[in-house]
Amino acid sequence: MSLFARGQVTRLQREAAVNQELLDEVRAESHRLRTALDAIPVGIVLADTAGAVVLRNQAASRGGHADVLVSDVCNRLLAAAAGGTVAEERVTLFGPPLQVLLVRAAPLAAGGALATIDDLSDRVRLDAVRTDFVANISHELKTPVGALAVLAEALADSDDPDVNRHLAEKMTEEAHRASSTIDDLMELSRIELGGPGIPEEVELSAVLGESIARHRFTADNAGVRLELVPVGQLSVIGDRLQLVSAVSNLIDNAIKYSNVGGTVRASARVAGCWAEIEVSDDGIGIPTRDLDRVFERFYRVDRARSRDTGGTGLGLAIVRHVANNHGGDVTVRSHEGEGSTFTLRIPFREGA
Ligand code: ADP
Repeated sequence: MSLFARGQVTRLQREAAVNQELLDEVRAESHRLRTALDAIPVGIVLADTAGAVVLRNQAASRGGHADVLVSDVCNRLLAAAAGGTVAEERVTLFGPPLQVLLVRAAPLAAGGALATIDDLSDRVRLDAVRTDFVANISHELKTPVGALAVLAEALADSDDPDVNRHLAEKMTEEAHRASSTIDDLMELSRIELGGPGIPEEVELSAVLGESIARHRFTADNAGVRLELVPVGQLSVIGDRLQLVSAVSNLIDNAIKYSNVGGTVRASARVAGCWAEIEVSDDGIGIPTRDLDRVFERFYRVDRARSRDTGGTGLGLAIVRHVANNHGGDVTVRSHEGEGSTFTLRIPFREGA
């Protein structure tokens, strides 16, 4: 081979090596971009100038987003966006679970269009719960505050000391009612916002003992016997204050919905991988149709009875939250007129 030809080959080889390097770099860059796109939780779809889809990230290819309805909306908006129109549309998929997606499309400066698919389901669900909650709170506080206004007016119009004393007593009662609703709301939001709390080793006999001690006086006043079945050495990992709050609420209810001469019993035991805390009573019981709903906020079986006993309808919502925070649950067995047994289950590990 001539000297000239050899020089030519070396040059070409050098150029090829440079090109290969460039290609590798472009490939690596493209891989990085693809990885970044796929890591974004929002669905991203890219279309060419004709509005035809040329790229989809992982979030846009998932079962939910790939739903025919969403794809249709996405394609339509991309076609419009490729023609220069910015557009958005909310897509509601009535599950269950309910899914709400927001599809937005906009033209790109370099031609073509980009659509994003945002999953709003959690936000929509949370908003609904909040709206509901605020409506409930307003309603619950309106009752005692309204009663206070009426009683205060009556007090202003009355000269009779006996009537005045009676009205003042009623006012105190209503003020206490509003105040215990606020206390329970604060406790509920503390437990909700605080999450699982700081985990520590908690002796269940201490939790039951403390909860029982809190209610001795109330039980004596109501003529109800309070019994603590000896628990022995049994501990779980959890938040002591939250557990005391849950068990206290169960004991409080058991006393409230018992008859004079009734017995409330608190116990705890291990059942497989659970520590079970049980609070049972032989009181008025809960009708079968209400059993599923008693854990809802502000749900009461018998409003009149709950009002008489100073109930807020929040106690069992607190118990359920504490159970959830601990990775456990709470269930109830009950027969009207015979009594109720609530079981709070907390994960149990030997030696915990
Ligand atoms: P409340 O403050 O009204 O007691 P809870 O959330 O603690 O609210 O309980 C919800 C409803 O469940 C109560 O209003 C009551 O009707 C019913 N309930 C709860 N515990 C018992 C029980 N031990 N016996 C009978 N009914 C109960």
